[in-house]
Amino acid sequence: MLVRMPPTALIVHAHPEPGSFTTAQMREAEATLAAGGHQVKVLDLYALGWNATLDRADFPGSEGYFKPQAEQARALAAGTLPLDITGHLDALHQADLLVLSFPLWWFSVPAVLKGWVDRVFVMGSVFGGAYGIFDQGALTGRRAVLLLTTGGAAGHFGADQPYGDLDRHLFHIHHGMLGFVGYDVLRPIVTHAPARQTDEVRRAALSSVRQAFEKIEARDPVSDHGMTTSF
Ligand SMILES: Cc1cc2nc3c(=O)[nH]c(=O)nc-3n(C[C@H](O)[C@H](O)[C@H](O)COP(=O)(O)OP(=O)(O)OC[C@H]3O[C@@H](n4cnc5c(N)ncnc54)[C@H](O)[C@@H]3O)c2cc1C
Repeated sequence: MLVRMPPTALIVHAHPEPGSFTTAQMREAEATLAAGGHQVKVLDLYALGWNATLDRADFPGSEGYFKPQAEQARALAAGTLPLDITGHLDALHQADLLVLSFPLWWFSVPAVLKGWVDRVFVMGSVFGGAYGIFDQGALTGRRAVLLLTTGGAAGHFGADQPYGDLDRHLFHIHHGMLGFVGYDVLRPIVTHAPARQTDEVRRAALSSVRQAFEKIEARDPVSDHGMTTSF
């Protein structure tokens, strides 16, 4: 008899306040995915005290000119990557769906989450080496989605608005990080300006998050991702 394994979701969360709205919507996503049959793992980077700095300390014995990605590939082959990285890398490889949960900081992810990508998207494991990039990346066939909050109201974003186009701000994450290693990237799930809303509006936003994750299988991909790059 064929035993079908439940799909696996990995949520990587970056907010320093456990009582924040960003954390509440992450928990909503976690509960919804679990109720829908996913096996869900949450990596709460602030709670874990995640080291966000990729430097020589990750590679004891490294000498001379320091080339971070070459060191990553060497340590991967030698089995000497630090345990915090290998644990998260295993979780990444096991996940059918990756959710990055964060507040928009400087039109990007908080530094702790950028540092997670720096250290865990290891050359030779998720791209490069036996793999290529984009549709040759190791995570081809998996899906990823951003779950975020903003400070700016929805009306402040847009091509002709003061904050500019949110899709453009997220492009470096969608394409340069997630697409680069092979993910099919889904349209982001965004709550605008929760700090400036009433409790009632915030509750409705959590309900929208729940509905988005109930229908995550049917969510559209981002429009400008998916290009094939061969070189
Ligand atoms: C360094 C930095 C850079 C930034 N750069 C940008 C930027 O480039 N662009 C931009 O738009 N914004 C920016 N911001 C603002 C930031 O994006 C917002 O402050 C953040 O996204 C708001 O989300 P939060 O979870 O932190 O809100 P919070 O202030 O934590 O939450 C808002 C409210 O929701 C309440 N709440 C919590 N849980 C629940 C619940 N279950 N139900 C109902 N209410 C609840 C909280 O009590 C609080 O009153 C920046 C902020 C920082 C610190």
